[in-house]
Amino acid sequence: MILQERWGYRFQSANYFGGEIRGQIVDNDLKRIRLSLKTKMRIAVSTIHPLKSASSDERDRHWAFRCPLCNDDMEWFGVADYQVDLTRLEPFAVWHCRGCDLFSRSVTADVVARHFDVVTYMQPDNEPRMRSERTERSEWILDLMQDRLGSKLRSVLDVGCGLGHLLQVGKLRGYAMDAVELNDGLATRLGSLGFRVWRRLDEVSGTYDAITFVDSFYYFPNPIETLARCKDLLHSNGLLLLRITNRNWLANWNTRRRTLELFGDATHSYSLMSMTKALTKSGLRLNEFLYRERVSQMSLRRKSLYVFGYSLTALSGKRWLFAPGLVLIAHRGDE
Ligand SMILES: [Zn+2]
Repeated sequence: MILQERWGYRFQSANYFGGEIRGQIVDNDLKRIRLSLKTKMRIAVSTIHPLKSASSDERDRHWAFRCPLCNDDMEWFGVADYQVDLTRLEPFAVWHCRGCDLFSRSVTADVVARHFDVVTYMQPDNEPRMRSERTERSEWILDLMQDRLGSKLRSVLDVGCGLGHLLQVGKLRGYAMDAVELNDGLATRLGSLGFRVWRRLDEVSGTYDAITFVDSFYYFPNPIETLARCKDLLHSNGLLLLRITNRNWLANWNTRRRTLELFGDATHSYSLMSMTKALTKSGLRLNEFLYRERVSQMSLRRKSLYVFGYSLTALSGKRWLFAPGLVLIAHRGDE
């Protein structure tokens, strides 16, 4: 259980937006505290201007936040917690671009690197409980690429490979599997298993039939440069596959009650609209998107949520995308 101290109170899983406190305020015995209206108002005023206490340099940097896709000023959206070390969450500003529906969190690269050192899904000890679901998703993604490229699929670069499930499944199928992984511990671990792993995308040499970002693209601070680099690394008939969490519609829906927890730990959060813009600006072409994934290995609760999202999406004739995830397949735009 993670507790935070703010404004002289201890919070349990709190989120702050627009003067509202979400989560529980607790005392030292973890009992909920009933606050007077006056105290609630005082905290509410603090949350509306959480950056007022920041240094002027930091505030200027935040206020000047620009959309990395449109280069327009982004609008202040709120503040969301982010895990900066093993026991500490810190609030960071979240910004929204109306032009392309991109949400961005004002975290720096060193904060993101520290985050990856401690976040649970990057810990090898936690791998067994994720294995069946991740393996199923990896099988499905390789099936998709095999279906699109046939015998032309021989080499794959998995960017942000994490614990390496896609690498393992691809290797068993006989593909040449390379990876990019920022986290030193995981990169070394996968290197010892025989995979070629770079720390950064700009260090990669060679070209590939397919490049994948499975729930990893939203951690890259410079989306256009990242995608343009992928274009250079793709064979002329190769494909780029991105799996993203589809959550911007939830953030845009019912703005009075929105919670920023749904952004998870993403640096940028994309919708289909923002991804299409990012791909086009990078010289790539979105060929198709899919919203149904394989879910048989998920827990019943997760599976129900996914199937519910698929059903709503299908009922709307794909006009509204309620599915929890989207898979986008792009090609080089010059082909
Ligand atoms: Zn934008």
